[in-house]
Amino acid sequence: MCGIVGIFGNPDAARLAALGMFAQQHRGQESCGMVVCDGRVLHLHKGMGLVKEVFNAEVLEELPGSLAIGHVRYPTKGAATPFNSQPHLVETLFGPSYALASNGDVVNYDSVRAMLEAENVYFKSDNDGELLVKFIAWRLSLGDDPVQAIRTLMRDVKGAYSSVFCTKSELYLFRDPLSMRPMVWGRTADGTVVAGSESCVLDILQVGERKEVPAAGIIRINSGGIQIIENDPQDYRTCKHNSYCVFEHIYFSRPDSYHFGEDVFMVREQIGAMLAKEDADLEADCVVPVPDSANFMAVGYSKASGVPLSLGLIRNHYVGRTFIKPKQTVRDESVLQKFNPLPNFFQGKKVVLLDDSIVRGTTIRKIVRLIKDAGAKEIHLRVGSPQVRFPCYFGIDTHSPEMLAANLYSLEEFTKHIGVDSLKHLSLENLAKCVHEPLEYCYACFNGEYPLEIR
Ligand code: SF4
Repeated sequence: MCGIVGIFGNPDAARLAALGMFAQQHRGQESCGMVVCDGRVLHLHKGMGLVKEVFNAEVLEELPGSLAIGHVRYPTKGAATPFNSQPHLVETLFGPSYALASNGDVVNYDSVRAMLEAENVYFKSDNDGELLVKFIAWRLSLGDDPVQAIRTLMRDVKGAYSSVFCTKSELYLFRDPLSMRPMVWGRTADGTVVAGSESCVLDILQVGERKEVPAAGIIRINSGGIQIIENDPQDYRTCKHNSYCVFEHIYFSRPDSYHFGEDVFMVREQIGAMLAKEDADLEADCVVPVPDSANFMAVGYSKASGVPLSLGLIRNHYVGRTFIKPKQTVRDESVLQKFNPLPNFFQGKKVVLLDDSIVRGTTIRKIVRLIKDAGAKEIHLRVGSPQVRFPCYFGIDTHSPEMLAANLYSLEEFTKHIGVDSLKHLSLENLAKCVHEPLEYCYACFNGEYPLEIR
């Protein structure tokens, strides 16, 4: 999971891109980068760390141009190093000529890379963003135009990739044929084109309309205007439907974002209401979310059940998202720094604790311990998703099944292990009822039914 931004047609493109990247900081905190084009030269700046650390006012001043693409990175394919940071540039005889930033993972990375290396294409990183831009540059060198090159990429490269690609004069937006990761775009009142992974980018840049890049769609933007090229996704995929990542609604995305035809906060409220339905006999003093991703689930639970909502756990917002920290030791330390129970709140209370998901199970155990130590009489944990049993290969760092709590413990064992009085997950059937088009989603980390072959 990463965040991308594209800006076209504004002399302040670097600053707008930085604002869009900052709005998506929750999608990646390890590194960030930007390419800005002034019509002649592609200027690249990237670094390890947060957007505000890497892009201060002086840096942005040095990035002139009206076209920009940006990226915030959560490392999945390739380690957390400067080499693997995006965007990636391609140099030609005319200097840096193309750049690309992408969100998602390519599942046939090894075979595509081997094919390109056999064609004398040279790689500097292990990152699939570089694979995508080198693939396009290779096709361009063979005589394709960019649209043909991207169509060939869609035929040969499998996986999740919502991408922004630029030449010195054009911006291209494209999305994989399964539409796994979100990608939205629109125009401001002054005609600036803005694209992002999430619609919060459009909101912060005051884009009035929110449009989604279609599955297998290519949008070409240049001084002549905007061309939307709709390809038939069935030409590029075996699966009949889209495979929107349902975890975007459960955890990854900001609640004020809109994608896959849904407002994220509404899906989360619906999930909470579904959990409450399954708890008709449970009497509790309060429902407390694990902030922030479970906040709207707790709102939905409270509305549906009548159990009062309480923000009993306080989150330190200067600690980033623990799930997307790359190492377990860092994640453990972050949990302790991140949450604190309200003093004198939990004493003697029967608490419904609501969390969005359980992946490795380490965070929730520490949170339960905090609440118990604060005096709670009973804790009933409700989880807004089914048990995660299968790895994700499309942009989330759960590559080995042995890392997943659901494969390490039975539900009873896990209930004891984390020390709660009861534990219930939302069923897959009920999760599917929380979205408008349930057949258009990927649920592979819950049911193992992957939308494409994993090689
Ligand atoms: S496997 Fe899970 S996390 Fe990965 S894309 Fe599918 S639903 Fe999303």
